[in-house]
Amino acid sequence: MSRYRGSVVDSRFVEYYVIPFLRNFDEQAMELTDICRRIAMKVNWPHGNWPLVAPGATSYFFFIAEHDEELILAPALAGTSLLPLPDLVHEMAHPLVRNSARRQTILGDWDRDEFVHDRVMATVGDITFGQMAAHHWLAHGVEEIACDVIAAWVCGPAYAWQHIRWCCGQRDGSSVYEDGDYHPPDHIRFEVIMRTLPHVAPAAEVDELTSAWDAVIGADEGQVQQPESGQQRPELYPPALVLELTDEVIQGCLRVGILPFPEELEEDDPRSAFDKAWREMRTDPRGYHDRSL
Ligand SMILES: [Zn+2]
Repeated sequence: MSRYRGSVVDSRFVEYYVIPFLRNFDEQAMELTDICRRIAMKVNWPHGNWPLVAPGATSYFFFIAEHDEELILAPALAGTSLLPLPDLVHEMAHPLVRNSARRQTILGDWDRDEFVHDRVMATVGDITFGQMAAHHWLAHGVEEIACDVIAAWVCGPAYAWQHIRWCCGQRDGSSVYEDGDYHPPDHIRFEVIMRTLPHVAPAAEVDELTSAWDAVIGADEGQVQQPESGQQRPELYPPALVLELTDEVIQGCLRVGILPFPEELEEDDPRSAFDKAWREMRTDPRGYHDRSL
């Protein structure tokens, strides 16, 4: 029976990921993969491999394939815009955090299940809810937060701008992914990014980001809905605990030697293209013309 289940999973993987991947592995896919490679070189990426990237016809966001951590599925038209590409680094970080021999160096104590369990239980208080929260942190939260820290550390403000862009029109407490329980709510992710950015970005731009976030989330303040009851995701992430892990991963980036987003970007650095695109978008949104890679 288990062998049967295993083969069903295998065939689904081939059907959902490998076939679309092969079908879509074209010039655009090679360029996206090359962007990952070039960023990895610039920042001294500590994992030998970075995933291949292929635009998948059905994916709306970037995501790492479920059973193959060497593969990022990208939105079908990913190569036609520079603005969302900082998200690639979040996906590159998943295999780094999940499997790398450096996981412990990056996460510190948060690499240990008992530590995560105890910290979450101690912060959340309620035993039943605490168990659920601890389970959630172990399954998703620690890794997602770590990937956001690493992406903000490497991509700087462009990563925050693209997060704000995704969140336009979302209600407070929700997640753009609408995926039930996988990701922390958008505002928690923003807090993680904003805790990381002062290490790598000018204070003026950090302030600008805060105002932009307030404008996006406060835009329809009259209609802001609270998360539906039973959807307790925001409560799963006490801010103090989130920031504690964020600080640990920032130190982890230093320990493992990932170079931070630099003050001066070199011309051949893909992050320089992201940065320029976002600068143009902000100064003249109506006149902005997106460029392909
Ligand atoms: Zn993720």
